[in-house]
Amino acid sequence: MAQPKIDTSLKTWDEIKTTTCYMCACRCGIKVYLKDGTVKYIEGNRDHPVNKGVICGKGASGIMQHYSPARLSKPLLRVGERGSGEFREIDWEEALQLAATWLKKVRAEDPKRLAFFTGRDQSQGLTGWWATQFGTPNYAAHGGFCSVNMAAAGLYTFGGSFWEFGEPDWKHTKYFLLFGVAEDHASNPIKIGLGKLKARGVKIVSINPVRTGYSAIADEWIGIRPGTDGLFAGALIHELLASRKVDLDYLARYTNAPWLVIRNEGHADDGTFARNANGEPLIYDAVIGRPLSAYRADTSPKLVGEFTLVDGRRAVPSFMLLTERFLADEYSPTAVAEKCGIPADTIRRIAAELARTAFDEELCLNIGWRDWAGRIHDKMIGRPVSMYAMRGISAHSNGFQTCRTLHFLQILLGTIDVPGGFRYRAPFPKPAPPGIKPSGKPGQVKPNTALPGPPLGFVTSPDDLLIDKEGTPQRIDKAYSWEAPFAAHGLMHTVIANAAKRDPYGIEVLFLYMANMSWNSAMNVAETTAHLTAKDEKTGDYVIPHIIYSDAYASEMVHYADLILPDTTYLERWDCISLLDRPISEADGPADAIRQPVVEPDRDVRPFQTVLLDLGARLGLTGMTNEDGTPRYPGGYADYMVNHERSPGIGPLAGWRGKEGVFHGRGEPNPRQLERYIENGCHWFYELPDHVKYYRHANRDYLEWASSFGFIGRPEPIVFQLYLEPLQKFRLAAQGHGAVQPPEAHRARVARYFDPLPGWHEALEESVRDHKEFPLHAITQRPMAMYHSWGSQNAWLRQILGRNWLYLARSRGEELGLADGDWVHVISATSRIKVQVKLMDGVNPDTVWTWNAIGKRSGAWALSPDAPEAKKGFLLNHLIAELLPERDGSYRYSNSDPVTGQAAWYDLRVRIEKAPAEEAAVSAPQFPVLKRLAGLVAGRRA
Ligand code: SF4
Repeated sequence: MAQPKIDTSLKTWDEIKTTTCYMCACRCGIKVYLKDGTVKYIEGNRDHPVNKGVICGKGASGIMQHYSPARLSKPLLRVGERGSGEFREIDWEEALQLAATWLKKVRAEDPKRLAFFTGRDQSQGLTGWWATQFGTPNYAAHGGFCSVNMAAAGLYTFGGSFWEFGEPDWKHTKYFLLFGVAEDHASNPIKIGLGKLKARGVKIVSINPVRTGYSAIADEWIGIRPGTDGLFAGALIHELLASRKVDLDYLARYTNAPWLVIRNEGHADDGTFARNANGEPLIYDAVIGRPLSAYRADTSPKLVGEFTLVDGRRAVPSFMLLTERFLADEYSPTAVAEKCGIPADTIRRIAAELARTAFDEELCLNIGWRDWAGRIHDKMIGRPVSMYAMRGISAHSNGFQTCRTLHFLQILLGTIDVPGGFRYRAPFPKPAPPGIKPSGKPGQVKPNTALPGPPLGFVTSPDDLLIDKEGTPQRIDKAYSWEAPFAAHGLMHTVIANAAKRDPYGIEVLFLYMANMSWNSAMNVAETTAHLTAKDEKTGDYVIPHIIYSDAYASEMVHYADLILPDTTYLERWDCISLLDRPISEADGPADAIRQPVVEPDRDVRPFQTVLLDLGARLGLTGMTNEDGTPRYPGGYADYMVNHERSPGIGPLAGWRGKEGVFHGRGEPNPRQLERYIENGCHWFYELPDHVKYYRHANRDYLEWASSFGFIGRPEPIVFQLYLEPLQKFRLAAQGHGAVQPPEAHRARVARYFDPLPGWHEALEESVRDHKEFPLHAITQRPMAMYHSWGSQNAWLRQILGRNWLYLARSRGEELGLADGDWVHVISATSRIKVQVKLMDGVNPDTVWTWNAIGKRSGAWALSPDAPEAKKGFLLNHLIAELLPERDGSYRYSNSDPVTGQAAWYDLRVRIEKAPAEEAAVSAPQFPVLKRLAGLVAGRRA
């Protein structure tokens, strides 16, 4: 009998549209296959600069994100108590009127009583500008609890950073060090890069307490103890300095290593740079034998020695102080080995391998270039060692200085923006630090008035802080106060607790976007929900009177808001991946992208960015309203993307500008700009010519081009700040110098942690816990398959990971009498949880860990209340205290880095006890089941 013919290549689509993935932060180009208006399939776009056709499991599963049963479908107004899940469906006009009424009142009385914070927002160019026009300083995205330590350390040190600010020179590097991990959103580009290294046989060394993901394919895994990466990097520096394997020429040309630091202990100028009458820093010239301006090109600066200035003061090159710091015994491999959990010989060997690769395998590209002083170089010298770091080293209270130390190591080897090293991605490099100061000082926040500048920026002295005469913070999260002076991304993790305690003041409206603050984004979930539901004892009203929340999904946060503005999925809207925001540029040139709606929403939802512009127009905000009071962008976010100009000729999108669409970077708005993007696969990329692809911090042609594109204000060289004078200014203030000094309670802390030299100090939580009582470090990792809490409700991704376990070293588990599957109590100084364990080999023996944001609250995300995510899954968050313990009856600081305010998620110490057999096999704590929300649409199969 003839076999039936099966067609295995049925055409299942009738249309293909390009757009940009939002299943993680990489923002790959994708092609969406549609049939009858239904999403059938998603694949990578081969022409896209970010992923070149690669798609990951998350990206392919976007289809189930789009059809998730947890999608919100209509604006909701709370009618029961917060947390009850009692809402009434309302129409958009009622929702927007209500939001506008609340916001209008706040703006007319005191704009800072609005706290506007966003989570996984990819439109910070808009949201930050909106906050500025509203007039509130209380704005930030989620960077303060993610990786601000890394961003700030890099921007203050060399005007760039890891993450999407730069990347290893995948093509030329010969040795790669990877610190920490964030495999969920440092995904396809890193995987593609690692693949290239593997193909060339390049050695990959992963420094991480846990051997998962990228560490699993590394040639060498170093299972470091959490929070000691700075010590490890410091020991590598010690070895390189001791063996004189450093690039002195690079240091002298491109860094402040030769700048003279005044030695005048006890005086207001101690530790500041010696300057001439024009304010230019000085170096000591070895040939002329006297100090000269550091900005001259024709000098021969000394890097060591002590010199006398013309006024008789003594000064030394900052490099002397750096070498004194790192050549000290405390940074020797022998001294750090036990603390780091790494044998001293391993540290010495890695240092030798770094030195050998950087100096014995020097690269030379025969490409001529012109430096900032106009000197012509006939080739580009490369040191083929590259490094990359992710969240693991950042989310500690010593993370800022750890990241600074790592950058010092890179710079000591001469590896920033050279062939084979670490390369900037546009719009970086920026001046170190960028010149924008935060707005929100007393007198700058006025009724019905925009702020004079953006709420976020870079302070360089105590004069820049947002505090009043008594030192009281002006922001609700206390960013840019003595508690967190360099809080370049704000402190979102402190907002709810501070607002509930009215410390430093009460707020009227909390406005959140895509931030699951009542669950996996909260330190101490129980206390956070208590803050969100706290009532005033006298009036019986909520202490935070109004909470507006926008999200596409029924996350745990929805239940604790009053007014829900349902967002679209990422396949239903316009979006702008802008150079004014978080870039997707390549090292070879700038890039940006758009999202276009590939399908129309089938629910009564609106894109948040369009809603924000609508609210701005209703409030009459400058820039969002015409003179006659009509909306400036009646076409919503797409209209804004095309027609908004941040400065003349500079808009959200850099491609095809000008009326005819022939300019790139700068040019008038182009009414057909979005069409041009769509024709090009929804992205734009401009490849730089070869002579401006490296040494961009000092490459005159690059700097002139970057200035014309609006990336930097002036085409001046960017000098790496190894010695960070702004930190010294804070230290001097704490020592009693200057007009703005910390209140007595903060002085010791500022003096202790504002060290102008990079280095390592013990993490704050660690330093106050009894290590015998809490012998283990507890950390989280993100799996490649999931991007924060979105992924763990996705029907396809849940099949990869439907619950989490607590992992610990086999040796430790056996010591504790534990076997796979045993239930244990994990106990911190403030709380306890109950979880199930698994034993493994690839983990530091003093560390336990789990996947983050897999555990869900029962009833949330339209999952069954008995879903494994709720009954077996768990969060470590319950164990983490929001505040550090009191010391000597003093003020309780937030559990954050003392410099930047970065949330110290990974400083946690715990102990483990086996749970009694009679206890139920359910993770703990369990919270009351959240009621299913009204109007959730049924999930749909593609
Ligand atoms: S790496 Fe991220 S952006 Fe790229 S396809 Fe995967 S989820 Fe999407």
